[in-house]
Amino acid sequence: MDSGMQEKCGVFGVFNHPKASDLTYYGLHALQHRGQESAGIVASDGKSFRHHRGMGLVTQVFSREILDGLSGNMAIGHVRYSTSGASLLQNAQPLVFKYSEGDLAVAHNGNLVNAAIERKVLQQQGAIFQTTTDTEIIAHLIARSSKKYFERAGPEVLKRIDGSFALLIMTDKQMLVALDRHGLRPLSLGKIGESIIAASETCALEAVDAKFWRDVEPGEWLIIDEKGIQTGRFAEKGDISLCSFEFVYFARPDSVIHGRSVLSIRKELGQILAKEHPTQADVVVAVPESSVPAAMGFAQQSGIPYEMGIIKNPYAGRSFIEPTQELRDLAVRLKLSAVREILEDKRVVLVDDSIVRGTTSKRIVQLIRQAGAKEVHVRISSPMVKNPCFYGVDMPTKEELFANKHEHERAMGKVIGADSLAFLSTEGLLEAVDVDLADTSSRCIACFSGAYPTKLYLK
Ligand code: AMP
Ligand code: SF4
Repeated sequence: MDSGMQEKCGVFGVFNHPKASDLTYYGLHALQHRGQESAGIVASDGKSFRHHRGMGLVTQVFSREILDGLSGNMAIGHVRYSTSGASLLQNAQPLVFKYSEGDLAVAHNGNLVNAAIERKVLQQQGAIFQTTTDTEIIAHLIARSSKKYFERAGPEVLKRIDGSFALLIMTDKQMLVALDRHGLRPLSLGKIGESIIAASETCALEAVDAKFWRDVEPGEWLIIDEKGIQTGRFAEKGDISLCSFEFVYFARPDSVIHGRSVLSIRKELGQILAKEHPTQADVVVAVPESSVPAAMGFAQQSGIPYEMGIIKNPYAGRSFIEPTQELRDLAVRLKLSAVREILEDKRVVLVDDSIVRGTTSKRIVQLIRQAGAKEVHVRISSPMVKNPCFYGVDMPTKEELFANKHEHERAMGKVIGADSLAFLSTEGLLEAVDVDLADTSSRCIACFSGAYPTKLYLK
């Protein structure tokens, strides 16, 4: 793994719109849940680039003045999430380079599993890297390609990289959009009149009032320039291995991925969970916000009323983003509070979408008990996370994963202080994400099952 760094990010691109940077700003804003560490926009007026990147939220990084300076009718943008200490401005994307054909900018959501090997080969050939991100490798490969023009070099390079990538690459005049051969990350296309929009999630298309056109296919590339749109493949049409965690947690509920509404899948996860692990209780509460749809589904299926038993302070960031355990604990405390009126003397079903390190559940069970609950039954709308993700989703090491520290659900329940704990089955997850159980290859479930859809190139 390249530098051990994992990223869960969002990309957004606009071709042929007089307000390309403004639209990119709004698009990135809608994708903010995919990364809060840094944001950047690169715009082109057909001759040269203007760019701005900074640490923090989209609204913190850009002002009206800065956006006005990013003129041009083409732009790509990126929001980045990383927890691995490599919190550096130089790693903020889009990365920008100058090479023999002019300017080059790269925005990448995902993680290249063969990054360490490719980086080594490039370094042996004399390449000097400015960042620790795997994304820079893509730029070096394009700059060193034996193919002369970007429209040939770009697609050629895609054959050489493996892992997950929803990719936007821009030159002064062209934009390349590509998705890895497994379709691990989502990537959709939209249109506003004659303008083309590319976005990690459809919620960002909605944000700029673009009409959904289609999803980018796994192994497909598009080059968009003034001549029109060329499409091709750098890999045969094979199995799709879309990340099922996008449906469980990452994607925004109002997004539609591969034709399925994230919100309805989350509700279904909760319904199946209620069928698999019923319990006697008075009230169902969610760990807000991401688990609300699953808790509603659980309530619908079980007939137990859903209540807002936990309130989230909207001004606290996501708990996971803190780099140390101590800070993560504190962040959970700042973030959530329990409503005594709803919870006192009640048997409570607490629905969360996932347990990773176990910090959140433990803290919330404690909160609910402090608010006077009689019983707390924790139900998780995904299977146990037992394996790290190598495709761009931040997960701790295998040893740090809660499910690997304890032998069975009963022991885990005890640790988090619950009266009972149960996880959704893998079959339940696959049923909700619409997969034929005989063909589980169409979704990645590697963090649950350990069956990775790609080679991992681990030493
Ligand atoms: P933990 O406290 O480590 O068990 O994390 C689980 C909580 O964080 C759940 O409430 C999820 O909604 C959320 N979560 C799960 N996976 C991730 C991730 N990779 N990045 C950020 N948050 C996550
Ligand atoms: Fe998604 Fe898990 Fe696969 Fe990573 S390992 S891509 S989080 S399903």
